Amino acid sequence: MNQTPFKESIYVSEMEVSATLAVLMEAERLRKEGVELIDLGAGEPDFFTPRNVKDAGEQAIESNFTRYTATSGIAPLRQAIVDMMRRDFGASYDPSEVLVTIGGKQAIFNAMATLLNPEDEVLIPSPYWVTFPEIAKFFRARPVIIDTEPDDFLLTARAVRNAIGPRTRLLIINSPNNPTGRIIPPDEFRRIAEVAAERDIWIISDECYLYFAYPPAVPFTAGQLPEELRSRVMICGSFSKSYAMTGWRIGFGLGPKPWIQSMLTVQSHSTSNANSMAQKAAIEAANGQQDSLHEMISEYKRRRDWVVPALNAIDGIECATPEGAFYVMPNMKRLLAGQVRDSIALSKLLLDEARVVVTAGSAFGMEGYIRISYANSLEAIQEGVRRIARVAGALSTR
Ligand code: PLP
Repeated sequence: MNQTPFKESIYVSEMEVSATLAVLMEAERLRKEGVELIDLGAGEPDFFTPRNVKDAGEQAIESNFTRYTATSGIAPLRQAIVDMMRRDFGASYDPSEVLVTIGGKQAIFNAMATLLNPEDEVLIPSPYWVTFPEIAKFFRARPVIIDTEPDDFLLTARAVRNAIGPRTRLLIINSPNNPTGRIIPPDEFRRIAEVAAERDIWIISDECYLYFAYPPAVPFTAGQLPEELRSRVMICGSFSKSYAMTGWRIGFGLGPKPWIQSMLTVQSHSTSNANSMAQKAAIEAANGQQDSLHEMISEYKRRRDWVVPALNAIDGIECATPEGAFYVMPNMKRLLAGQVRDSIALSKLLLDEARVVVTAGSAFGMEGYIRISYANSLEAIQEGVRRIARVAGALSTR
């Protein structure tokens, strides 16, 4: 049968499929063949959703809480999010400043949808979560990348100031960061917000990894900024990582009421409300006992504390200690040469030779690095690093 030619719209024509897709597809193919892989590529917790949260979801189904809800999210969940931000971070919001979304991703999408006009510039620090520039392109805005490598992967107010131009409309901050794991210190965060305010720029603060800050580092949310600075910040939060709820798809926008209202309008004509039973489960996650969150945090810290020195002990690899999230991003530049000249080729080699899945730095706009996720058991991480060491050894002596 003849296929009718499909021509995609101008909105998607500039979006790109992730360059790492080929390696991921190969990993999938090997898995299907029964090849055992060590997966250090995952962007999600290896823990299960806590029992009390699952029970709340089951209870919601049993009691037929299975209908449409208010587009903004049910009132008890919006209240629970407000309470959680006050209890854990001393940030005070009103439930009318909350929009419950389908994951943090939809909050980010809605926030950009309601703010960006064609040709607007969006400041995106690199390395970045790959979705940021692609959503900007979808709205025909222009991503302007701020390279944070010279500042040890920490966004600074100076770098933001230097990147601002007449068309700059939005700055995206992601701290704790995917993929670097770095956390912007509170004073610098505040200076960045001040620069944005001086130049009439809005901020999206992607705080999906907010809880994952390892002592002595402390989490910092834009909700702790003074009121006058906070009034131009949309926090995009999520239950996915903190409560091991990636599949439930619950996130939220938290910010100035007019911006939230505008996001609500977009959502009311696209997805409507987030899943009703998942909203009930999220109330339990936010209000219920927090033991599993604390257990996850200390387990991630234990893994980080093992993986950083282990990577640094490998000739040709340098790895800084990140303060948060569940990723490390080692510098692999000394191993890149000849056929293995970039991070994609290296991640392919690690898959082929060592059966280890990692993510190439170029997926985050940062060549010369790979991202290793420690959202896997310590045993798997240890085996993965041993295998990486073998490949590194072979590369160093070639
Ligand atoms: N932001 C960052 C930096 C992420 O890494 C992710 C998920 O990987 C998200 C946002 C979105 O998460 P979700 O939509 O599951 O809440």
